[in-house]
Amino acid sequence: MRAHRGEGLPVPSSWQPQDASLGVTVIGAGIVGASAALHLQRAGFDVRLIDACGPGEGCSYGNAGGISPGSIVPAATPGLLAKVPKWLMDPDGPLSVQWSYFPHAVPWLVRWIREGRMDRLKRNSAALVALNGQPFEGYRELLTASQFDDLMRVSGHLFAWRSPKPMDGIARELRERAGIAMQFLNEAELREMEPAVSPLYRSGLLLPGNGFTVNPERLVKTIAQNLVAAGGTVLRRRVLGFDCGPDGPRMLYTDCGTLPVERVVIAAGAWSTKLAAELGVKVPLAPERGYHVMADAPGVRLRMPVLDAERRFMVTPMERGLCVAGTVEIADVDAPANYARSARLWEQAKRLLPGLPEMGSTQWMGMRPSMPDSLPIIDQHRTFRNVFFAFGHGHLGMTGAPRSGRLVAELVAGRTPSIDMQPFKVDRF
Ligand SMILES: Cc1cc2nc3c(=O)[nH]c(=O)nc-3n(C[C@H](O)[C@H](O)[C@H](O)COP(=O)(O)OP(=O)(O)OC[C@H]3O[C@@H](n4cnc5c(N)ncnc54)[C@H](O)[C@@H]3O)c2cc1C
Repeated sequence: MRAHRGEGLPVPSSWQPQDASLGVTVIGAGIVGASAALHLQRAGFDVRLIDACGPGEGCSYGNAGGISPGSIVPAATPGLLAKVPKWLMDPDGPLSVQWSYFPHAVPWLVRWIREGRMDRLKRNSAALVALNGQPFEGYRELLTASQFDDLMRVSGHLFAWRSPKPMDGIARELRERAGIAMQFLNEAELREMEPAVSPLYRSGLLLPGNGFTVNPERLVKTIAQNLVAAGGTVLRRRVLGFDCGPDGPRMLYTDCGTLPVERVVIAAGAWSTKLAAELGVKVPLAPERGYHVMADAPGVRLRMPVLDAERRFMVTPMERGLCVAGTVEIADVDAPANYARSARLWEQAKRLLPGLPEMGSTQWMGMRPSMPDSLPIIDQHRTFRNVFFAFGHGHLGMTGAPRSGRLVAELVAGRTPSIDMQPFKVDRF
């Protein structure tokens, strides 16, 4: 195994790839691709990480930064499905669909609704527990101790409701079943926990095992730098397609010419659909757009991320300011951002935290790579055995990435994966 030159990084475990002479090219330097790349390198492979932009500049750039082992509830739940029609009609609702895209979204929405059935919900939640269970331990493997202390906070998450009783529904049962620590709070306890929360909010839930990163983009860039420091390569190129032989891709077509490849990992987030289709694989992935508004807010001091549990957005105290992130908008991958959504998000956040300034200072739109069952695809191509998939992490990619990266390395190295991979198969639909 190659000497590990990343300063202070944890010593890799002793497993060897079947053929360390082969290189691996990871397409997509978001949190998933970067985590996979570093795990692959630490398993002894020569790794090249390619992205059309810089590392961490896709969906991993501006998300809410929540690291959420306690958030094990798939997006579609029976109670939530009943609210969908009302949300779709409400411009302030947390869900919208670009109507011109609606016919394309229907098959995905139908599958999504089906995944909300109780039996599937429980099964999918169990898979999320396995994947997202120990993200902080996972990040400790990808970062030095000082990088971890700089970037990560194990702070807890606070959910807030306007009703005097938390309306946690099925989530409570799923968390109890998974043994996740939680503490329900009355009005006084909620106020004591985070005094900045408006008196309109009257009950809360603390998930003490959750936390956040102070800067998701810097987190990805740091992991990519650790890869380079240990001899890996990061290339800025857009992959346009594949030159395939009978056994799989031999060459990538890129906007800067061709690149020979031996093994390929597709980790291109919401853009993975097109690349997978080039290799004959159709996946039901929807670009589920979300927005953030960031602002310097000296009047609001938060110890931890606060979530409006009914309106479904999160406010995270990050190093660039307070980040208000959320909403779901199903639209074409190439459609322009609709910043009216982020303006509404800010208005709602001011009702949660009255000390927020009148206006946010920056806004952003990102595309969650979302599967109908809220589970990513982590698998090997059925025919082209030199192709691997790692995308579809939806609302929880920052949480699931470290374990996903490890699983990719295990698959590529031909090892028995450390968790049951059945729920993450590419052909499960
Ligand atoms: C508003 C919002 C809030 C969120 N909050 C949280 C949260 O609190 N906690 C959490 O766990 N998750 C959260 N998420 C989800 C999380 O951000 C995503 O699941 C995660 O970032 C997906 O990572 P990824 O690496 O798969 O994709 P990306 O970060 O999008 O990376 C994919 C990369 O592939 C590159 N790429 C695409 N096509 C090509 C190509 N052809 N050639 C080369 N490169 C290519 C892109 O440039 C991009 O950098 C949130 C998402 C949003 C939108």
